[in-house]
Amino acid sequence: MKKRALITDLDNTLFDWVDIWYRSFSAMYNKVVVDAGVDESILKADIRAVHQRHGTSEYAFLLEELPCLKPILAGRPATEVFSEAIDAYRDARREAMQLYPGVAKTLHELKSKKCVVVGYTESKAFYTNYRIRKLELDGLVDILFSPEDHDLPRNLSADQIRKYPSDHYAFKSTKHYSTPKGEIKPNPDILNSIIENLEIPKIQCTYVGDSLHKDIAMAKDAQVDHAWAKYGTAQSRPEYELLRSVTHWTDDDVEYEKKIHERDVRPDAILNESFEEILGIYDF
Ligand SMILES: [Mg+2]
Repeated sequence: MKKRALITDLDNTLFDWVDIWYRSFSAMYNKVVVDAGVDESILKADIRAVHQRHGTSEYAFLLEELPCLKPILAGRPATEVFSEAIDAYRDARREAMQLYPGVAKTLHELKSKKCVVVGYTESKAFYTNYRIRKLELDGLVDILFSPEDHDLPRNLSADQIRKYPSDHYAFKSTKHYSTPKGEIKPNPDILNSIIENLEIPKIQCTYVGDSLHKDIAMAKDAQVDHAWAKYGTAQSRPEYELLRSVTHWTDDDVEYEKKIHERDVRPDAILNESFEEILGIYDF
């Protein structure tokens, strides 16, 4: 049976999100530590609290909202006081931003076979939009699903925080939809509704993702053919430690994670070294 749709996770499946996050965040963090001269354990605890409040580890107004930096900011914008730290973040991110080898080639190949490519991520809309544009995935991913953005600070509108006019951020061809609030992987409902909306029989769809307990457990419960992007697994890398120390995860999230890890998840197929291996597993 030929597959007519590939539904794929983004972070650590198409690109190394942990590496991009780590390189950009640590560049900023290290500069803030030096420039502000604050105790790192206080800084980390403050960062974690702000991330938790906004439900993301990529929060655009992080420095503004850290209690330990308030006396240094003294009412001035963080973009002014910590401009070098913010530049360091942007430079590192630009350098780190790349697809895993073989991803672009594979997506072009799928495109030439008229296969519909759907992205489904739990990263929020704004940064997902940035990565899709910078990684030249606009158009290679036909349809994208992500949660909505974090809330903006009370006194700002979306246009006020954007550096460029709004059409700069608009996709040229990828269609971007929001997932329902609070619905997270491995709940199979969203995947099922994505497939229903595609109007392609489930048997002609396949799913790829790097998390056994989120992506693969979800695909199994939705009874969708799937392959595990084993090459993207990042949990055991040292970069993960910094992420863990400032993560937005709440104690409830950690409990939830523990619970889903109790399940023995065995994938249908494994992509050991690269995304490209999907072409040898399914006929598109
Ligand atoms: Mg992932």
